[in-house]
Amino acid sequence: MSPDSFSILERRVECTLNCPVCDDEIEDELHIFFRCAVARDSWCAVGLSSVLHNAAYQQTNAMDRIFAVCNNESSDTVGRVTMLLWCIWHNRNDKFWNDNVHMPRQIRRHAFDAWNDWYSVHKLQSNIVSGTTEANLVRTSVGLCFRDNSGHFMVGMTQWQQTVISFVEGEAWALLLAMEEARHRGLDRVQFESDLKVLIEAIHIKRRGNSEFLSIVHDIFSLMSSFINFEVKFVRRQTNLVAHTLAMAVNTWTDFHRFENIPFCIEHLVFNEMQ
Ligand SMILES: [Zn+2]
Repeated sequence: MSPDSFSILERRVECTLNCPVCDDEIEDELHIFFRCAVARDSWCAVGLSSVLHNAAYQQTNAMDRIFAVCNNESSDTVGRVTMLLWCIWHNRNDKFWNDNVHMPRQIRRHAFDAWNDWYSVHKLQSNIVSGTTEANLVRTSVGLCFRDNSGHFMVGMTQWQQTVISFVEGEAWALLLAMEEARHRGLDRVQFESDLKVLIEAIHIKRRGNSEFLSIVHDIFSLMSSFINFEVKFVRRQTNLVAHTLAMAVNTWTDFHRFENIPFCIEHLVFNEMQ
Protein backbone atom coordinates (compact mmCIF):
# COMPACT_ATOMS: atom_id res chain seq x y z
CA MET A 1 0.00 0.00 0.00
CA SER A 2 1.39 3.39 -0.97
CA PRO A 3 1.70 6.05 1.75
CA ASP A 4 -0.96 8.17 0.02
CA SER A 5 -3.71 5.62 0.05
CA PHE A 6 -2.83 4.76 3.59
CA SER A 7 -3.27 8.35 4.75
CA ILE A 8 -6.61 8.62 2.94
CA LEU A 9 -7.80 5.47 4.61
CA GLU A 10 -6.62 6.72 7.95
CA ARG A 11 -8.39 10.02 7.48
CA ARG A 12 -11.59 8.31 6.48
CA VAL A 13 -11.53 6.14 9.56
CA GLU A 14 -10.95 9.17 11.73
CA CYS A 15 -13.81 11.20 10.25
CA THR A 16 -16.40 8.53 10.82
CA LEU A 17 -15.48 8.37 14.49
CA ASN A 18 -15.14 11.91 15.77
CA CYS A 19 -17.28 14.99 15.29
CA PRO A 20 -15.09 17.54 13.42
CA VAL A 21 -16.69 20.39 15.35
CA CYS A 22 -16.31 19.34 18.98
CA ASP A 23 -13.89 16.46 18.39
CA ASP A 24 -15.07 14.46 21.35
CA GLU A 25 -18.07 12.42 20.35
CA ILE A 26 -18.94 9.91 17.70
CA GLU A 27 -20.47 11.76 14.81
CA ASP A 28 -23.88 10.76 13.54
CA GLU A 29 -26.78 12.87 12.28
CA LEU A 30 -28.33 13.14 15.72
CA HIS A 31 -25.05 14.40 17.11
CA ILE A 32 -24.36 16.90 14.30
CA PHE A 33 -27.77 18.59 14.38
CA PHE A 34 -29.02 18.13 17.95
CA ARG A 35 -26.42 16.96 20.43
CA CYS A 36 -23.12 18.62 19.53
CA ALA A 37 -22.34 21.45 21.96
CA VAL A 38 -22.00 23.98 19.12
CA ALA A 39 -25.30 22.83 17.58
CA ARG A 40 -27.11 23.14 20.93
CA ASP A 41 -25.71 26.64 21.46
CA SER A 42 -26.84 27.57 17.95
CA TRP A 43 -30.41 26.40 18.64
CA CYS A 44 -30.40 28.68 21.70
CA ALA A 45 -28.79 31.57 19.80
CA VAL A 46 -31.57 31.59 17.19
CA GLY A 47 -34.25 31.39 19.89
CA LEU A 48 -35.36 27.84 19.09
CA SER A 49 -34.28 26.09 22.29
CA SER A 50 -37.94 25.39 23.17
CA VAL A 51 -38.19 23.32 19.97
CA LEU A 52 -34.89 21.54 20.71
CA HIS A 53 -36.01 20.56 24.21
CA ASN A 54 -39.66 19.87 23.40
CA ALA A 55 -40.57 16.41 24.76
CA ALA A 56 -42.41 15.65 21.52
CA TYR A 57 -39.20 15.84 19.51
CA GLN A 58 -36.85 13.49 21.36
CA GLN A 59 -36.86 10.68 18.77
CA THR A 60 -33.60 8.73 18.60
CA ASN A 61 -33.10 9.38 14.91
CA ALA A 62 -32.56 12.77 13.31
CA MET A 63 -34.96 12.24 10.41
CA ASP A 64 -37.80 11.28 12.77
CA ARG A 65 -37.19 14.39 14.86
CA ILE A 66 -37.22 16.67 11.85
CA PHE A 67 -40.34 14.98 10.51
CA ALA A 68 -42.13 15.49 13.85
CA VAL A 69 -41.14 19.18 13.92
CA CYS A 70 -42.48 19.65 10.38
CA ASN A 71 -45.77 18.01 11.33
CA ASN A 72 -46.41 20.02 14.49
CA GLU A 73 -44.89 23.47 14.12
CA SER A 74 -46.05 26.51 12.17
CA SER A 75 -44.53 27.09 8.75
CA ASP A 76 -42.58 30.05 10.17
CA THR A 77 -40.93 27.84 12.80
CA VAL A 78 -40.30 25.05 10.30
CA GLY A 79 -38.64 27.61 8.02
CA ARG A 80 -36.38 28.83 10.82
CA VAL A 81 -35.50 25.27 11.88
CA THR A 82 -34.65 24.37 8.27
CA MET A 83 -32.33 27.34 7.91
CA LEU A 84 -30.68 26.54 11.24
CA LEU A 85 -30.07 22.89 10.24
CA TRP A 86 -28.65 24.04 6.95
CA CYS A 87 -26.29 26.48 8.73
CA ILE A 88 -25.19 23.85 11.26
CA TRP A 89 -24.42 21.49 8.35
CA HIS A 90 -22.56 24.22 6.49
CA ASN A 91 -20.56 25.00 9.63
CA ARG A 92 -19.69 21.34 10.10
CA ASN A 93 -18.42 21.11 6.51
CA ASP A 94 -16.49 24.35 6.75
CA LYS A 95 -14.72 23.00 9.82
CA PHE A 96 -14.14 19.62 8.21
CA TRP A 97 -12.85 20.82 4.81
CA ASN A 98 -11.38 24.26 5.56
CA ASP A 99 -10.75 24.11 9.28
CA ASN A 100 -12.87 27.25 9.73
CA VAL A 101 -14.58 27.49 13.08
CA HIS A 102 -17.77 29.50 13.46
CA MET A 103 -19.12 30.68 16.79
CA PRO A 104 -22.83 30.07 17.54
CA ARG A 105 -23.29 33.85 17.18
CA GLN A 106 -22.05 33.64 13.56
CA ILE A 107 -24.19 30.59 12.85
CA ARG A 108 -27.16 32.55 14.16
CA ARG A 109 -26.26 35.39 11.83
CA HIS A 110 -26.09 33.03 8.83
CA ALA A 111 -29.36 31.41 9.81
CA PHE A 112 -30.95 34.82 10.19
CA ASP A 113 -29.75 35.96 6.73
CA ALA A 114 -30.79 32.70 5.10
CA TRP A 115 -34.16 32.95 6.80
CA ASN A 116 -34.61 36.52 5.57
CA ASP A 117 -33.86 35.39 2.02
CA TRP A 118 -36.26 32.51 2.28
CA TYR A 119 -38.95 34.70 3.84
CA SER A 120 -38.64 37.43 1.25
CA VAL A 121 -38.79 34.97 -1.65
CA HIS A 122 -42.04 33.66 -0.21
CA LYS A 123 -43.33 37.15 0.37
CA LEU A 124 -42.38 38.02 -3.19
CA GLN A 125 -44.25 35.02 -4.54
CA SER A 126 -47.36 35.79 -2.55
CA ASN A 127 -47.21 39.39 -3.71
CA ILE A 128 -47.08 38.31 -7.32
CA VAL A 129 -50.03 36.04 -6.78
CA SER A 130 -52.09 38.79 -5.20
CA GLY A 131 -51.02 41.22 -7.91
CA THR A 132 -49.55 43.92 -5.68
CA THR A 133 -46.84 46.18 -6.95
CA GLU A 134 -43.16 46.24 -6.20
CA ALA A 135 -43.62 49.23 -3.93
CA ASN A 136 -45.25 46.94 -1.38
CA LEU A 137 -42.26 44.65 -1.06
CA VAL A 138 -40.15 44.87 2.03
CA ARG A 139 -36.81 46.19 0.96
CA THR A 140 -33.87 47.69 2.78
CA SER A 141 -31.75 50.06 0.79
CA VAL A 142 -28.46 51.57 1.73
CA GLY A 143 -26.65 54.59 0.37
CA LEU A 144 -23.02 55.32 1.17
CA CYS A 145 -20.98 58.30 0.19
CA PHE A 146 -17.23 58.69 0.73
CA ARG A 147 -15.70 62.15 0.67
CA ASP A 148 -12.21 63.43 1.28
CA ASN A 149 -11.35 65.85 4.08
CA SER A 150 -12.30 68.89 1.99
CA GLY A 151 -15.72 67.47 1.19
CA HIS A 152 -14.98 66.30 -2.35
CA PHE A 153 -16.89 63.29 -3.52
CA MET A 154 -14.69 60.17 -3.74
CA VAL A 155 -17.00 57.24 -4.27
CA GLY A 156 -20.62 56.32 -3.74
CA MET A 157 -22.17 52.96 -3.20
CA THR A 158 -25.69 51.66 -2.96
CA GLN A 159 -27.03 48.29 -2.08
CA TRP A 160 -30.45 46.87 -1.41
CA GLN A 161 -31.82 43.54 -0.37
CA GLN A 162 -35.27 42.09 0.09
CA THR A 163 -35.36 41.75 3.83
CA VAL A 164 -37.51 42.13 6.86
CA ILE A 165 -34.86 43.77 9.03
CA SER A 166 -35.91 46.72 11.14
CA PHE A 167 -34.92 50.32 10.54
CA VAL A 168 -32.23 50.35 13.26
CA GLU A 169 -30.77 47.06 12.00
CA GLY A 170 -30.70 48.55 8.49
CA GLU A 171 -28.79 51.63 9.69
CA ALA A 172 -26.30 49.45 11.61
CA TRP A 173 -25.89 47.20 8.57
CA ALA A 174 -25.19 50.26 6.38
CA LEU A 175 -22.47 51.43 8.77
CA LEU A 176 -20.87 47.99 8.79
CA LEU A 177 -20.93 47.95 4.96
CA ALA A 178 -19.32 51.39 4.89
CA MET A 179 -16.51 50.20 7.15
CA GLU A 180 -15.95 47.10 5.06
CA GLU A 181 -15.84 49.25 1.93
CA ALA A 182 -13.32 51.61 3.59
CA ARG A 183 -11.14 48.68 4.57
CA HIS A 184 -11.44 47.26 1.04
CA ARG A 185 -10.26 50.62 -0.35
CA GLY A 186 -7.30 50.81 2.02
CA LEU A 187 -8.61 53.93 3.78
CA ASP A 188 -7.51 53.91 7.39
CA ARG A 189 -8.46 57.36 8.64
CA VAL A 190 -12.19 57.65 8.20
CA GLN A 191 -14.94 59.46 10.03
CA PHE A 192 -18.26 57.66 9.64
CA GLU A 193 -21.46 59.61 10.07
CA SER A 194 -24.89 58.34 10.96
CA ASP A 195 -28.03 60.22 11.95
CA LEU A 196 -29.21 57.40 14.19
CA LYS A 197 -28.34 58.38 17.76
CA VAL A 198 -29.11 54.99 19.31
CA LEU A 199 -26.59 53.36 16.93
CA ILE A 200 -23.78 55.80 17.68
CA GLU A 201 -24.38 55.50 21.43
CA ALA A 202 -24.46 51.71 21.31
CA ILE A 203 -21.07 51.73 19.54
CA HIS A 204 -19.50 54.27 21.91
CA ILE A 205 -20.49 52.42 25.07
CA LYS A 206 -19.90 48.99 23.42
CA ARG A 207 -23.39 47.83 24.36
CA ARG A 208 -23.82 44.08 24.35
CA GLY A 209 -26.91 41.95 24.06
CA ASN A 210 -28.70 39.26 22.13
CA SER A 211 -30.64 41.30 19.62
CA GLU A 212 -29.78 41.24 15.93
CA PHE A 213 -29.11 44.98 16.13
CA LEU A 214 -26.55 44.57 18.93
CA SER A 215 -24.91 41.68 17.13
CA ILE A 216 -24.26 43.98 14.15
CA VAL A 217 -23.05 46.67 16.59
CA HIS A 218 -20.68 44.08 18.03
CA ASP A 219 -19.30 43.37 14.52
CA ILE A 220 -18.81 47.12 14.08
CA PHE A 221 -16.77 47.66 17.21
CA SER A 222 -14.72 44.54 16.71
CA LEU A 223 -13.82 45.86 13.25
CA MET A 224 -13.04 49.26 14.80
CA SER A 225 -10.67 47.66 17.29
CA SER A 226 -8.32 46.81 14.39
CA PHE A 227 -8.77 50.22 12.72
CA ILE A 228 -8.06 52.70 15.47
CA ASN A 229 -8.50 55.70 13.15
CA PHE A 230 -12.08 54.79 12.28
CA GLU A 231 -14.40 57.15 14.12
CA VAL A 232 -18.17 57.20 14.29
CA LYS A 233 -20.04 60.43 14.74
CA PHE A 234 -23.65 61.48 15.06
CA VAL A 235 -24.92 63.98 12.50
CA ARG A 236 -28.36 65.49 12.05
CA ARG A 237 -30.51 63.97 9.31
CA GLN A 238 -30.32 67.09 7.12
CA THR A 239 -26.52 66.83 7.14
CA ASN A 240 -26.77 63.25 5.96
CA LEU A 241 -29.06 64.08 3.05
CA VAL A 242 -26.63 62.85 0.41
CA ALA A 243 -26.60 59.30 1.75
CA HIS A 244 -30.37 59.28 2.19
CA THR A 245 -30.95 60.49 -1.35
CA LEU A 246 -28.67 57.74 -2.64
CA ALA A 247 -30.58 55.16 -0.63
CA MET A 248 -33.85 56.34 -2.16
CA ALA A 249 -32.43 56.23 -5.67
CA VAL A 250 -31.30 52.64 -5.18
CA ASN A 251 -34.59 51.12 -6.30
CA THR A 252 -33.90 52.06 -9.89
CA TRP A 253 -30.51 50.33 -9.93
CA THR A 254 -29.37 46.76 -9.63
CA ASP A 255 -28.87 45.28 -6.19
CA PHE A 256 -25.30 46.51 -5.92
CA HIS A 257 -24.06 49.71 -7.42
CA ARG A 258 -20.74 51.48 -7.05
CA PHE A 259 -19.80 54.68 -8.84
CA GLU A 260 -16.72 56.90 -9.00
CA ASN A 261 -18.48 59.95 -10.45
CA ILE A 262 -21.14 61.94 -8.67
CA PRO A 263 -24.52 60.59 -9.76
CA PHE A 264 -26.97 63.18 -10.98
CA CYS A 265 -29.44 62.68 -8.14
CA ILE A 266 -27.00 63.93 -5.48
CA GLU A 267 -24.89 66.36 -7.49
CA HIS A 268 -26.60 69.53 -6.25
CA LEU A 269 -26.58 68.28 -2.64
CA VAL A 270 -22.84 67.63 -2.65
CA PHE A 271 -22.13 71.07 -4.11
CA ASN A 272 -24.50 72.80 -1.69
CA GLU A 273 -22.77 71.18 1.27
CA MET A 274 -19.31 72.20 0.08
CA GLN A 275 -20.25 75.87 -0.07
ZN1 LIG B 1 -19.75 17.58 18.01
